Amino acid sequence: MSSPAVTTSDPAHIPTHVVVLGGGPGGYEAALVARSLGARVTVVERQGLGGAAVLTDVVPSKTLIATAEWMTIAERAPELGIRLTDDAAKRDLSVDLKAVNKRVLELARAQSADIRGRLEREGIEIVGGSGRLESTSRVVVESAADPADEGRVLDADTILVATGATPRTLPTAVPDGERILTWTQMYNLTELPEKLVVVGSGVTGAEFAGAYNALGADVVLVSSRDRVLPGEDEDAAELLEGVFRSRGMTVLSRTRAEAAERTDDGVAVTLSDGRVVHGSHVLIAVGGVPNTVGMGLEEAGVTLTGHGHIEVDKVSRTSVRGVYAAGDCTGVLPLASVAAMQGRIAMQHALGDAVAPLRLGTVASNIFTAPEIATVGYSEDALKQQGSRYITTTLPLARNPRAKMLGIRDGFVKLFAHPEAGVVLGGVVVAPRAGEHIFPITLAVQHRLTVDDVAASFTIYPSLSGTTAEAARVLDARVQER
Ligand SMILES: Cc1cc2nc3c(=O)[nH]c(=O)nc-3n(C[C@H](O)[C@H](O)[C@H](O)COP(=O)(O)OP(=O)(O)OC[C@H]3O[C@@H](n4cnc5c(N)ncnc54)[C@H](O)[C@@H]3O)c2cc1C
Repeated sequence: MSSPAVTTSDPAHIPTHVVVLGGGPGGYEAALVARSLGARVTVVERQGLGGAAVLTDVVPSKTLIATAEWMTIAERAPELGIRLTDDAAKRDLSVDLKAVNKRVLELARAQSADIRGRLEREGIEIVGGSGRLESTSRVVVESAADPADEGRVLDADTILVATGATPRTLPTAVPDGERILTWTQMYNLTELPEKLVVVGSGVTGAEFAGAYNALGADVVLVSSRDRVLPGEDEDAAELLEGVFRSRGMTVLSRTRAEAAERTDDGVAVTLSDGRVVHGSHVLIAVGGVPNTVGMGLEEAGVTLTGHGHIEVDKVSRTSVRGVYAAGDCTGVLPLASVAAMQGRIAMQHALGDAVAPLRLGTVASNIFTAPEIATVGYSEDALKQQGSRYITTTLPLARNPRAKMLGIRDGFVKLFAHPEAGVVLGGVVVAPRAGEHIFPITLAVQHRLTVDDVAASFTIYPSLSGTTAEAARVLDARVQER
């Protein structure tokens, strides 16, 4: 990042005022960049710093999953010769959900406080409340945490809208926070649900279904498609569904939840094929809706898509000069890492710093199930759809010596490369901690390394990453044959 042309220490200079709506990854990362580029920055946030990412979505779900992961590892213990007691069976381990959720919420609050502290140390003003655009250069604060801020007018040279999204709900399955739940309400549970029905088999549904199954709950996953995780790598999704079923989860495919109602002792979920599934609780995980309503966006001339997302280009500009948008409210790719990148790019562009447009082809993402599914670069579907020529190989982890030692059976490494140039186009890793193992492939995709480059690099023996190098060697041999 280049140094700012002017700084706030220049007394003759009135710094650019940037007003950021939303203190999630899209907003707070942008605020830090804007500040480092010499702007005066105000963040308006209605919930808490870190946004939904820190308070209800990424941080809580991954903290819960960390406990679930321990349970999954513990299940492998007997095979590795570990005995808890003479007659220990895996279900002898039990989870105190009250303690788990207390830890989850404390960790989220602490992370939020860390982010607030960081912004304050950088001299960024934080206003608690909801922001609404009164014009293309003016924000009004409503529902303020401090009565002194109510109705406050913030004149801005640049506005960044990073207001995120909220769980989508069904009118026939209205969440009550007790038995019919959205993912943001799951952390209020003090006892493990006896039988959790999860509606929606996208990333959020699959992560919660997998975690609660590992924690010891009976889980029914309702999927409207042929398989779980539609849109993800088919082999990875199939493998995960097989693991889910083998762990005792019921997966109901090609059926939708039409309604969910409270019963005397739980919930009844009516499916589109007429079946009724009874459970103690139901989690509705059917995606999110962007927080763009009632904020004066359209009145200010900001174009929204049919789904209510803010239209942006690759440098996060909206249809209105001086108004930028980042993160889930844009619908570009609902990941915290992408939100943060969009926010940084917006500020670099707005404040005249060097800026590279957003490149989605190099985004790495991870699904935190057991095993995890990590992907980067082009997916096989994308390569097929755009008619690209590619070669691919899939090597199972079961052959990997380290995997054998660790008792890992399920998983694979898949690579895609250009058939002549050998450039790595993308990859999929399905493994415990795949989110860590994807990084060498991310480096290869980002820097256009070839399978020869990857194959020629040392890996630790024995290590799971040995399978990544082996996959690169298999593809390299095919490139050399041509
Ligand atoms: C269960 C779950 C798990 C996830 N796990 C991961 C993961 O592991 N990794 C990953 O990369 N992504 C994950 N995501 C996606 C990730 O949470 C989002 O992509 C990320 O939160 C987007 O950041 P954001 O800044 O756009 O929005 P948010 O994090 O939603 O922050 C927006 C903030 O703006 C506030 N706000 C809204 N309107 C206003 C207003 N008018 N004025 C002031 N403030 C306002 C909101 O209250 C919120 O605090 C997960 C999502 C879910 C649902």
